[in-house]
Order: sequence, then C-alpha cells, then structure tokens
Amino acid sequence: MSSIIQTPTPVYPVALPFLEKWQIRVFIKRDDLTHPLISGNKWRKLKYNMEAWQKNGVQRVLTFGGAYSNHIAAVGAVGNAFSFETIGIIRGEEASNLNATLHKARENGMRLVFVDRKTYRRRQEVEWQSQLQELYGPCKILPEGGTNSLALQGCAELGTEILEELPFVPDHICISAGTGGTAAGLIKGLNGRSHVLVFSALRGNFLKTDIGHLLEKEGCFYQNWRLISDYFEGGFGKLLPETLYFIKDFYQTTGIPLDPLYTGKMMQGIFQMIQEKKFLPGTTLLVIHSGGLQGWAGMQERFGKGYHYAGASNTTGDPFFQKDRLS
Ligand SMILES: *Cc1c(COP(=O)(O)O)cnc(C)c1O
Repeated sequence: MSSIIQTPTPVYPVALPFLEKWQIRVFIKRDDLTHPLISGNKWRKLKYNMEAWQKNGVQRVLTFGGAYSNHIAAVGAVGNAFSFETIGIIRGEEASNLNATLHKARENGMRLVFVDRKTYRRRQEVEWQSQLQELYGPCKILPEGGTNSLALQGCAELGTEILEELPFVPDHICISAGTGGTAAGLIKGLNGRSHVLVFSALRGNFLKTDIGHLLEKEGCFYQNWRLISDYFEGGFGKLLPETLYFIKDFYQTTGIPLDPLYTGKMMQGIFQMIQEKKFLPGTTLLVIHSGGLQGWAGMQERFGKGYHYAGASNTTGDPFFQKDRLS
C-alpha cells in the first residue's frame, strides 16, 4: 500500500562552522523526502488511518483545513494515489483563483467546500459533522491536521526509526508542532528515551496541555519532553523577513530546504538557543524535518517571487528563492 513512500527516511549530519564553533552536533531526519505532497508527518499520520479505511471499505474521506494546509495537500494526494474520494472543508471564502495548494488538491480529485470562519469553528461538533455526512454522502471524517490515535501510531514510528538509525541516543530530538499530534506520537515511540523539544508554531502554551492529553489518551505519562514556545516567529501562517533570511541562508550553506511555517521557524529557534548557550558544548540534537515544502508555492502567491521554492524540478540553476529580495 505504501509503495510510493520510502521509509525509513534518512538521517544526515548538518555540518556548519556555526555549529562547530559552539560544539553542537546536529543531525536532520529528512522526513520531507517521503513525497512532495504526502510529506513528512502528514504521511505518518495518514498511514494507519488509510490502512484502516482500506480494511473497512471506506470509499470517501472528509477532512478540514486552511487554504494553504499541508494536510489538505496530503489527503488530496493520497486520495488520488490510492483511489478513494476526498472532500476538503476549507476555512474561508473561495477565491476567484485557487491557490497552488487547493488547485493541486482539486486536480487530485478533492472536492473543495468553502465555509466561513464561524462555521469552520464547528468542525469538531458532532451535529455539524452529521449534516456534512448528509450533504456529501457517507464518509469517514478525519479531524483537522489528521490528528487521532491512528495518526499517533504512525508518528510513533519516527521515534523507533531514529533509535534504529542512529548508533547513539541523541540528547534532544526537535520537532515542530501545530496540533501536537506528531510530537505526542514521537514521544510515545521513543518510549522514554532521549528528550524531545517541541517547538510550537503557534503563539501560547496551550500545546503543553494538548500534548499531555494526547499522551494520556494513549496511556502514556512520559516526562521526557518540553514545549518551547518562544519561536513562533510572528504567529501561525506568518513569515517574518528574518526567518526567510535564515531559511535561505540555511539552504545555501547546507543544501537543505526548510518549510516556511514549521521547520524553518524551529531551526531558527534552535540556532538562537545555541547562541544563547542553552545547550552545553558536546550536545547532540536530532532535528526532524517534518516536510511542508509544498507551502512555498502559496508563499510565493501571497508575497511574490522572492518566496519561491522550485525544488529539484527547477532547471534555472538556482533551485531556491529565484530572486534575492526581501524589501
Ligand atoms: C502539519 C505540520 C506540522 C505540525 O504537526 P502537528 O502534528 O499538527 O503538530 C509540523 N510540520 C509540518 C511541516 C507540518 O506540515
């Protein structure tokens, strides 16, 4: 079933003078390499859900997301690849031109339904969900971001893969978080080993409670993790110029593209923490690249060409940020 996805994903060392200077060893798990759209943690979360849908003969899946959502992109693409119908309930009005994420989702056969923000807030209400079932036919409803127990099971494999791939246990494993489902699954999979730094992509501390609850529901009470909530960089969906600079510089010096909303902000936060001497010399960090590179296309549409990530398919010679601009 998962023939189009290559796992385990590889781990590479990140070699930079900056890291040498501070004597911090950084490794990156390139989970972004699973698939351009079914990327990183979104694949991890879908894997066992899809297995269950196939086993139970589910033919139609309905889910929720914002207009640039990596989750919507992934669900559309798995629907196309594994031949089931998908419906995306999208937050906000339909624009006259679909953005790249939604355009691709529709191309992949996803039926897009736009709802206003007030209605979208009801996405967890059973009553609205059954109305949606009546409107769009019997379907499996997958929560926003794909976070449920089967998703955690898939994300737990991030933890087991890391422990199998590395000949040592890293001091910290860094993961970016939106709903916290990936972080909770990772912590579960690590079974008490290493120590997880969860970088919130959203303002506030609520993820601490949310991740705690997700773990409790799994019967897990691990304490080897901490929420880092200082590096949301402008808030969710925003991209500050300094973050863009950082991402671009990181790409030019390492060859590794980070995404604009999650992994770029996390890596910038990690580098700031290193500079602030938050880690002792000799510390090893394993950073999970959770994917999300499809989000660059939307950034380009919103802010202009400077935000373009053309990926491996670009033939112009400069694979990243074709124009060097920020003003
Ligand atoms: C969705 C996403 C996350 C957040 O995952 P959660 O499980 O919701 O915390 C992190 N990184 C990337 C690239 C994502 O697309």
